[in-house]
Amino acid sequence: MLTRLSSLFVRTLRDDPADAEIPSHRWLVRAGYIRRAAPGIYSWLPLGLKVLQKVEMVVREEMDAIGAQEVRFPALLPREPYEATGRWTEYGETLFRLQDRKGADMLLGPTHEEMFTLMVKDLYSSYKDLPLSLYQIQTKYRDEARPRAGLLRGREFVMKDSYSFDVDDAGLEASYQAHRVAYQRIFERLGLEYVIVSAMAGAMGGSRSEEFLAVADNGEDTFVRSPGGYAANVEAVRVAAPASPQLADAPAMSVVETPDAGTIAAVVEILNRDLPGRDWTGADTLKNILFMVTAPDGTKRPLAVGLPGDREVDVKRLAAALEPGVADVFGPEDFARYPQLVVGYISPVSLDGTRVLGKDSVTGIEYLVDPRVVTGTHWATGANEKDRHLVGVTAGRDFEPDGILDVAEVREGDPAPDGSGPLSLARGIEMGHIFQLGRKYAESLGLKVLDSNGKLVTVTMGSYGVGVSRAVAAVAEATCDDRGLRWPLALAPFQVQVVATGKDAALFDEAARIGGELSGRGLDVLLDDRKASPGVKFADAEIMGMPLIVVVGRGLADGVVELRDRRTGDKREVPVGDIVDEVL
Ligand code: ATP
Ligand code: MG
Ligand code: MG
Ligand code: MG
Repeated sequence: MLTRLSSLFVRTLRDDPADAEIPSHRWLVRAGYIRRAAPGIYSWLPLGLKVLQKVEMVVREEMDAIGAQEVRFPALLPREPYEATGRWTEYGETLFRLQDRKGADMLLGPTHEEMFTLMVKDLYSSYKDLPLSLYQIQTKYRDEARPRAGLLRGREFVMKDSYSFDVDDAGLEASYQAHRVAYQRIFERLGLEYVIVSAMAGAMGGSRSEEFLAVADNGEDTFVRSPGGYAANVEAVRVAAPASPQLADAPAMSVVETPDAGTIAAVVEILNRDLPGRDWTGADTLKNILFMVTAPDGTKRPLAVGLPGDREVDVKRLAAALEPGVADVFGPEDFARYPQLVVGYISPVSLDGTRVLGKDSVTGIEYLVDPRVVTGTHWATGANEKDRHLVGVTAGRDFEPDGILDVAEVREGDPAPDGSGPLSLARGIEMGHIFQLGRKYAESLGLKVLDSNGKLVTVTMGSYGVGVSRAVAAVAEATCDDRGLRWPLALAPFQVQVVATGKDAALFDEAARIGGELSGRGLDVLLDDRKASPGVKFADAEIMGMPLIVVVGRGLADGVVELRDRRTGDKREVPVGDIVDEVL
């Protein structure tokens, strides 16, 4: 297709937008690809939309190639399914909630596990219908605490999310692998330098999980690598611990709900009475008393994570510091004093980053804690020596609760868990995330099918996300230079920009002819036919970042045009008659 710049809806800007923190954000706005509508919310102009659509196409082709089928769900969703899985509450302030005119609670979907699970439940009932993978490329909403860097962390953004449905674990493993391979293809085609790291499952729960991080200094994620190929998000380092026998046999403990205001008030009262000298009102306790749980004995109690003398540390830092065997800070004596509020102290010993061994320090029973307990929450820890603490240790008896609370962070040069040498640290942008959800959602929402023996079995699921709009920013970030964008051929809104410079009408005619011929050969061509100075046109071409630029100017009198490669900076003269072949 041939598009004339004189009529394209675009204006390049001279100045950086005030909120631009990183180059890709600055250039996407200045080059007229996107415009901010509100913090973390962007409109797409023609140039930006073309790139977005090209990314979508790459993703769509690779999803189709593994047999996933495209669907589209609404973004405006009812509360009930999210209530059933607990996420209406768990998502916290990140969830956009609203009410319709009748007062019914609704939300703007941050991710769609619930809706897909229910749709499959509606339509399918037999193992013969499985395996099944469905995907959509759709707008998601998350009221991020810190929308950042333009498209990189939006409050409205485009995600490809897919969901796999299998009757057994082997099926899930196969679906997961198929997605993993599709994701490798996607990120290769996008031209991103990426690493696959083990990840915490985050708000999804489930077991196995990996992230695809684009290596980038401006990324928000930190990951470690070992010489032997181990790679993990620091959020997940050390979760690859040896299996704990207790973990395998531990009875399951289920989360039922978050504590109500009355429970929290009661807890605050106890803490203020027994443990004065610290502000227990509100926030501190809320972070510590996380969920009402059903303990193995069937009673419903608030689960306390972190106790007097502890200090909350965020989950990233804690995960970085944990090791197998690291467990309770306080012994049964301490917990016994507060049976009303304490179920146990979580000792995060885990094989896969999401299953957590909790020990009821009142009864001494160990059990698995629902992975949702550990998500997005704060943890507390202490130690009988700096950075370490052991099962059965009692605060005050074995250590002084003050001054022992720093949790180790993973450092450059730390020994790698695979024993292959020192860890190195780098930063990345999370581009994709794949999860083996297991039966968590299917269980909460009752998705069962008849197996080959006519028995009802719960379906096992995976969920898989790609940040499609984020990819536009990540590719821009990886490729731009100090003069503007520099798209790879596969994603550029136009592969070639033909720039006519000079006053002579013949130059413009020749530029249009070359542009027409290139577009006739299947290329997307942008023709700069504006009556502007060469300086303005060259600067705009550099900002806008099409990979190839054909300059039709003075040289035409000698039968040559200039071919510039925006990616490498190469410039050379080419006889006019050869230019089409040179470009192709
Ligand atoms: P992050 O850690 O960056 O907040 P996430 O782990 O919350 O991402 P997922 O729930 O795993 O995100 O969603 C799948 C993909 O959606 C992510 O890998 C990322 O590429 C993209 N994504 C998530 N949040 C945003 C956002 N606010 N803006 C743009 N893309 C996002
Ligand atoms: Mg997030
Ligand atoms: Mg993440
Ligand atoms: Mg993620």
